[in-house]
Amino acid sequence: MEANKTMDISLSDRWHKRPLIISGPCSAETEDQVIQTAVLLAETGVVDVMRAGIWKPRTRPGTFEGIGTKGFPWLQQARKITGLPIMVEVATTKQVEDALHFEVDILWIGARSVVNPISVQEIANSLRGTNVPVFIKNPLNPDIELWTGALERIARAGVTKIGLVHRGFSTYGNTEYRNPPMWHLAIEMKRRNPELMMICDPTHISGRRDIIQSVAQKAIDLDYDGLMIESHIDPDNAWSDAKQQITPARLKEMIESIIWRKQKSNEESFNTALEKFREQINQIDDELMQLLAQRMKIANKIGEYKRDKSITILQTNRWNEILDKGLRIGNSLGLSSEFIAKYFDAIHMESINHQNKIMNS
Ligand code: PEP
Ligand code: MN
Repeated sequence: MEANKTMDISLSDRWHKRPLIISGPCSAETEDQVIQTAVLLAETGVVDVMRAGIWKPRTRPGTFEGIGTKGFPWLQQARKITGLPIMVEVATTKQVEDALHFEVDILWIGARSVVNPISVQEIANSLRGTNVPVFIKNPLNPDIELWTGALERIARAGVTKIGLVHRGFSTYGNTEYRNPPMWHLAIEMKRRNPELMMICDPTHISGRRDIIQSVAQKAIDLDYDGLMIESHIDPDNAWSDAKQQITPARLKEMIESIIWRKQKSNEESFNTALEKFREQINQIDDELMQLLAQRMKIANKIGEYKRDKSITILQTNRWNEILDKGLRIGNSLGLSSEFIAKYFDAIHMESINHQNKIMNS
């Protein structure tokens, strides 16, 4: 067995490594599965931390809900053989205590726990006085305040090494993704917490193997600090999340084919060109703001007119006409229908709010 090339790096160095690559099975299943996966992951030379679920929050009862504390000695053994730090999910005080008892290196709080402030507070209270690093996944529902609240609770408990994991958000109905990424929410979270590491879990966003790589690439293009990707020695026969796990060999291939981008370039000509383009964008953004303000002024005038004639604010036919025309022109100019619809929706809401104020003034 080839030793992991990062074997002698201590966990605190690894915490600062970029990109940070976390991989391992959705669930620890058997001793063999854990150890074999760890050995293969270490041999790839691209993995920094090994993850495995010991307790699994499953949607339905009667499915595999995790091996429990029995799995910890397997993880310890895997760490001893490979040098990879180990990471598990915790959801209760008892689970935090067990994980710390077995000297797990890093903890994560899952999406299903982050939705519940009482659970997060319970976890936070049991972390007080320890200094174990903790990753906080985004909550299932697209609510950035809930994610922020979880972060505040964990930080107030004195945890200093905190990372964020973007794993996508629950939605109703079928979409391309198991959990649509809604990138703007994670970008806003990154904007609010620039000092924190933000990694992407493209596995739970995708829910299927074939799009993991493109989601991972998108995250790297957006300057994420790393990835958490589920891997298994025999993905098809995994006891949980079988459709979305990949083999360690495939993981290595994937990590090696991702185009790793830098946030900045040292090349002067590139930076000058970038500056110029940014200047143009700023100029256009200013003009757009002016135009939008002008548009609202006209909407205000219409509002006064509607008020004087006692006509309703919402004129559905007129609105359909605007949207149809916008879609036709926008599409022909290369703008996506999704963007055009969102744009007009926002404009329409703002106009309605303006007219509402006038009607009721
Ligand atoms: C997991 O990582 O296996 C998991 C349960 O993730 P999430 O909390 O994102 O659903
Ligand atoms: Mn999983």
